[in-house]
Amino acid sequence: MDRFVSGRFYDVMSLRLIAALEDMGVTELIVGRRRHTFLQDESAESLTFKTRGVNFVCYHFGSMTEGTTTPGMGSDIDTLICNDDVNIMSGWPEWERGRENLLMVKHVTCSPQHYRLQEARSDLPLPLTQSCHEFCVTDHDGKIYRSNTFVGQLWRQENADAPYFHAGPSHSFSEMYDFVFAYRCRTLPAECNSWFTRSRHGNWPTPEILQVARELGCFLIPDGHCFSEHNSIEWRLSPSLIERHLMFSMEDIHIQCYVTLKLLKKDTINPYLNGNGKLTSFHCKTALFYAREQLLPEMWTDDHLFDCIIYCLNLLCDWTSRAHCPHYIMDEVNLFDGKLNSEQRDSLHAILTIIIDTHLAPLAVVETDNLGVRLLHNVYTLAIWDMTPRRAVYQGITGFLSVFGNVNQIVNVRLILNDAADLSPDELCLYLHSLITQPLHQLHRHRSEQDLFRLDVVNRDSLIRYLQQHLASTSASICLQRGIQIGDMIWSWYSTAMNTDVSSTRLKLASMLYCKGDLQLAADVLEDVERRYDSTVQAICGCGRMHQLLSKPQETFTEAVNEENIDVLSTNKVAFCVRFLPQEAFCIPQILHYEMVRAVGDDIQHMHRTEREWMKWAVVDSRPFLHYLQYLTFRGLGLRHRQLQALHSLGVSIIDGLDHDQLFHPETAVHLAAHCLEMENEPDLALQGYLGSQSEIPRNNAANWHIRRLTSI
Ligand SMILES: [Zn+2]
Repeated sequence: MDRFVSGRFYDVMSLRLIAALEDMGVTELIVGRRRHTFLQDESAESLTFKTRGVNFVCYHFGSMTEGTTTPGMGSDIDTLICNDDVNIMSGWPEWERGRENLLMVKHVTCSPQHYRLQEARSDLPLPLTQSCHEFCVTDHDGKIYRSNTFVGQLWRQENADAPYFHAGPSHSFSEMYDFVFAYRCRTLPAECNSWFTRSRHGNWPTPEILQVARELGCFLIPDGHCFSEHNSIEWRLSPSLIERHLMFSMEDIHIQCYVTLKLLKKDTINPYLNGNGKLTSFHCKTALFYAREQLLPEMWTDDHLFDCIIYCLNLLCDWTSRAHCPHYIMDEVNLFDGKLNSEQRDSLHAILTIIIDTHLAPLAVVETDNLGVRLLHNVYTLAIWDMTPRRAVYQGITGFLSVFGNVNQIVNVRLILNDAADLSPDELCLYLHSLITQPLHQLHRHRSEQDLFRLDVVNRDSLIRYLQQHLASTSASICLQRGIQIGDMIWSWYSTAMNTDVSSTRLKLASMLYCKGDLQLAADVLEDVERRYDSTVQAICGCGRMHQLLSKPQETFTEAVNEENIDVLSTNKVAFCVRFLPQEAFCIPQILHYEMVRAVGDDIQHMHRTEREWMKWAVVDSRPFLHYLQYLTFRGLGLRHRQLQALHSLGVSIIDGLDHDQLFHPETAVHLAAHCLEMENEPDLALQGYLGSQSEIPRNNAANWHIRRLTSI
């Protein structure tokens, strides 16, 4: 069936496929949300590194950032961490005094994509002649090279008590994440030059794209060639930033073509290969790049999607026949090396031929995201099949992105604050002040990366707000301890930090006002928080108790963010846990002091590594803390009815929070409620509360102190 005969069928099926893909979230809106979330996160991660004095830059690559995934694909998160402390020289003129210098050496044994990195002195532009650390390897030629295995060794040392996953150059503590460490090539390697200059028939990549790509440069990744005898001292060139830029220039139709290829790969092609070799997403992406370059723009229309997919499959088929899958940017590199042997390529060729000859019939049985069913049935049948409607799919993706981005934001703040754990209150103020007032490390961005630069600014402002929250609270704590007046500057820090989220800064302000004795003002602030904290607000915890990838936000939240088209990272819809450092101790009600010393005896030995980072902090979910503070404040104001109302709301917030996964520090919330019962002169009920908390969490729980307190009378 040639195109003339197949035309009508292909047109109809192309449009059905597009509708099905749109139902699965492969649309401009969702792709944009995915990109925004992951680019903002990589900017925030990089900013955190810089703030902590580490010269690393983080990049998210792959399907999550490109937006080329669907919920059913279960894509992992690929992160590259580039160490910019190291100067990677293409020649000796690029040597820099006082820096860690490594020279790129194209050894005769290196493949087109690989280099060795020769160790150089930091005081003189000369090679190192003696090994200076365990990662130096002296080769037969007497030269000293940087080993590529050190990253794995360092990872295992640093994460000794965490699970370890390792594949190629990637290391991880979870199957959902891939971390790759890299160095940045100072200049664009010659291997990429031919891509910029080769003649092209089509109009893509445009001169503008090529110009930007030239500035983005390449990384060197610790990954030797699979067939090399010296692969432990080889480093692989990776133009992943250029590839990402190319993906960002793709339109909906190209993304839909690529996602379909990946779905065929996952559900049809790789199962057919039965574990004998593997077609990768990168092979599919390479086919898309060539197809985008070679096909005329008028072919990339909705009714030609089937034709475009078949064109890509034909490219892959042709490459299997030639036993060479050319890297799009470094075409001498064969992407089949180490992935598929000759027999496996034959199998791949066979299945690709079947898919092409049957006019993509296997799409009808793709189970991922129910693509097959979506493709073959109309909207009424889909309802009978109980297929997730488009709105619910979009909500699910939006919720996932929102949780991921927001949790990471406050994890980053936790890491920065953790560095200051041993400082006195005065030292902490100086430290936070210095972080806020210095230009907070504008990241090095290429002129071409204007969007990322804007994200850097957003993240910097957001980080400043978090730091100001702690600066205000620590400074106020010092004032309350010393009985001095809280100055205008401190009030202004509270004020500018107010929009960290719906509640955490406001609650810290109310807590300080309560401790200061300004009960009416505290009540006003609490009323404001209660008004803002409507049913669409999502509780977010960055203390290791909310899973960044698997936690499901409440439906009212995702509905609001999705339907009202609010930024998925909007702080107007989230309530973070309220964190008090020991240096803020005079701004918290007495009961929370016990949370700062919750480890008793050898409890700490049984504490999870993440929890150990904040073991001296008092951390409480916003909603129960709001009602606890209301209880205290109304009690102080003599408003008995409202006091009892607050106690009731506190109980409801705990039950609702547990029912709807909105409570991440339940033991602390129970302690607050039990303390209210103590104040209600119900010590037996209070004790039951503390005992209940202890039975759920026997160790590292302040309940142990409260039980001792109540039973030792
Ligand atoms: Zn938390």
